[in-house]
Amino acid sequence: MSAPHTPATPPGPPQDLGFDPEALRARYRAERERRIRPDGSAQYRATGGEFGYYADDPYADPEFTREPLHDRVDAVIVGGGFGGLLAAARLRQAGVESIRVIDKGGDFGGTWYWNRYPGIHCDIESYIYMPLLEEVGYVPKWRYAPGEEIRQHARAIARHFGLYADACFQTQVSELRWDDAESEWVVGTDRGDRIRARYVITSTGTLSQAKLPGIPGIESYRGHTFHTSRWDYDYTGGDADGALHKLAGKRVALIGTGATAIQVVPHLAADAGHLYVFQRTPSSVDLRDNRPTDPAWAASLRPGWQRRRMENFLRVVTGVRTDQDLVGDSWTSSARLQEKLIPTNAYGDVPPEDRERLYEIADFQKMNEIRARVENVIEDPVTAEKLKPWYRYMCKRPTFSDSYLQAFNRPDVTLVDTADTHGVQRMTETSVVVGDTAYEVDCVIFATGFEVGVSGILSGQLPVYGRGGVPLFEAWANGPRTLHGFSTHGFPNLFQLGPLQNASSVNFVHVLDEQAQHVAEMVAEARKRGARYVEPTAEAQDAWLDALAENAPDLLAFQAECTPGYYNNEGRPQKRNAYADGPVAFHDLLRHWRANGGMDDVLVEAEDA
Ligand code: NDP
Repeated sequence: MSAPHTPATPPGPPQDLGFDPEALRARYRAERERRIRPDGSAQYRATGGEFGYYADDPYADPEFTREPLHDRVDAVIVGGGFGGLLAAARLRQAGVESIRVIDKGGDFGGTWYWNRYPGIHCDIESYIYMPLLEEVGYVPKWRYAPGEEIRQHARAIARHFGLYADACFQTQVSELRWDDAESEWVVGTDRGDRIRARYVITSTGTLSQAKLPGIPGIESYRGHTFHTSRWDYDYTGGDADGALHKLAGKRVALIGTGATAIQVVPHLAADAGHLYVFQRTPSSVDLRDNRPTDPAWAASLRPGWQRRRMENFLRVVTGVRTDQDLVGDSWTSSARLQEKLIPTNAYGDVPPEDRERLYEIADFQKMNEIRARVENVIEDPVTAEKLKPWYRYMCKRPTFSDSYLQAFNRPDVTLVDTADTHGVQRMTETSVVVGDTAYEVDCVIFATGFEVGVSGILSGQLPVYGRGGVPLFEAWANGPRTLHGFSTHGFPNLFQLGPLQNASSVNFVHVLDEQAQHVAEMVAEARKRGARYVEPTAEAQDAWLDALAENAPDLLAFQAECTPGYYNNEGRPQKRNAYADGPVAFHDLLRHWRANGGMDDVLVEAEDA
C-alpha cells in the first residue's frame, strides 16, 4: 500500500492541455451564478422550535431520568465524540483520575452516534481516521470503515480508558461558571447538575446541528419526513447495511446531493418503489475502491505504525516533502488541490508566480477526469450532463463512491435538477415542487447538512463565565481571542478543542488527537507544579493572534469564485484566522512550545500562593 509521493509535474505549454482553460473558467462562473442566492446562509432553517422533532434522539430512552449530581471531579469534558474521547484518554494517560464526559446523546460516538444512515462509511482511510487503534488493540476490518464499526470503536475506547462509570449521557451542559474563591469550574446542565471540576475541556463538534432548507411550504408537508442524521429505521426498515424493506412500493424524495447523500442513494435506489433525488449542485464523485483489511498486512504492523501512517498522510495532503505515500488513495493523489481547503503555505517548492497557474491546471485536469467518469458511467446523456460538477475540486467536500452514479441508470430513480430554481421551489401537503412539476411522494428525506460552528462555546449557545463573572461572549465581542485556539485569558483551566486559530486537516481526528495531547500535557505539567490554574497571559494571546494575522493565508479570492456551499458561507466567504504553515508545522510548534518553556506563557499559580 505504499507508493512514492512525487510532486505534481508542471504541465506543458497551453496547446498541449487538450482543453481550453478560459472556456472552463467561464463555465464555472456561469454555473456559480445559476446557484448563488441573495439570502445566502439565511436560506436554511434550524432544527428547533416547530422543527425540533427533526433533532430528536431516535436511539436513547425518552423516559430516562436520574437525580441531579452535586459532586466534584478532576475534569469535565463536554462532548463524547472522538475529540472528547481523545481528551479523556490523554488525560487518563497523564494520570488524571476522575474524568466525567457529558454528552447530550445516549452514548459515546458524537457524529457516529447521531449519523447511522444506510451506507454510512468514513471517507478517510480507517487505519488513520479511527484513533487509538494500537492503545485499544484493534485493526479495522475495512479500509474505509462502516459507521457502526467506528461507533463501536468509540465505545471500546471509552471502556478501555474506564470512562463509562462517570459519564453523563442525555445531558446537555447549560453553563460553565468559574468560581474564583475555589479556583474551579461549576458545570450546570439541563438535568439540574452542579458539578465542580478543576479542568473543563469542550469538544462539541463543528457540524453537529442538522439544518433544513427554508423551502416555502416545508411545514405543510403531511407525509413522513426526517433528516439523514436521525435515520428513521422504524419507517424504512433495514439497517446501516441497507435492506430498507419497508420502502418497497413507496415514493421517496431525497433532498441534497452532498457527502451524505452519495452514501445513502445506492440503498434508497435499491429498495424504494421510486426514488427522486433533488439536486442543486452535483458533488464530485471519485473512485472509492474499498476493500477488506488484508490479514497478512495487519499482522505485519509494527508498534507505532498508526502514528507513522497518520503523520505521513498529513504530510502528503498538506504538501510537506516526504519520500513515501503510505496511504495511496484518492485523497493523497489529489493532495496539491487540497491547499484550497486547508490553509497552508507548505508548498514552498513552487515559485509563487507559477503556483496559482499550475494549481488551476491540475484542478481542471482532475475535474475533467471526474466529469469523464460521469459520462462513462451514466447511460442517459441528459442525466449525465446534470451530474457533472463545474467548479474547482476543493470548492466542496470531494466524495468517493463506486455505486452512487450507477444508481441513476435505474428506471426507478429520477434525478431532478433544481439549479435554475435555486433549490426545491415549494412543498405541499403531498409533494415536492420544481418548475411545473409536483412530485407526489410518501416520504421526504433531508440530506441537507449541518449548521457550521453553532455548537458549544463558539456560538454562545453554551454560556461561559470566567474570572470575575465575565461572559466569554463579552471577552470575544470582537472575535475569539485564544492562545493556539485552545485557551483564553480570563478563563483559567478551560480548554476548547477544534479548528479555531490553529491548523486543520481533512483527517480531523488526527488534529483532535494532537490538540488533546497538548492540553493533557499542559494539565499534567500544572499538576506537577502543584498549580492552581493554567491560563494564557494576555501578552501571549495577543502575540499569537498577531502572528496569525501577519501570515494569514488568503483564500478569499479562491472561495469567492467557488460555487456556493458551507465551505464559502454560501458564496460570501469570510476571512479566517488560521495558522498559515499548516498542521505539520503547527504540531511541531506545539511540541517546541512545550519543550522550551511555553508553560511560562500561561499563568500557573502555585497552590499555596
Ligand atoms: P452538505 O451540506 O454537504 O450537503 C447538503 C446538500 O443539500 C447539498 O447538496 C445542497 O445543495 C443540498 N441542498 C440544500 N438546500 C437545498 C434546497 N433548498 N434544495 C435542494 N438541495 C438543497 O451536507 P452532508 O450531510 O452531505 O455533508 C456534510 C459534511 O459532513 C460533509 O461535507 C463532510 O464534512 C461530512 N461528512 C463526512 C462523511 C465522511 O465520510 N467522513 C460522510 C458524510 C458527511 P448545494 O450544494 O447546492 O448547496
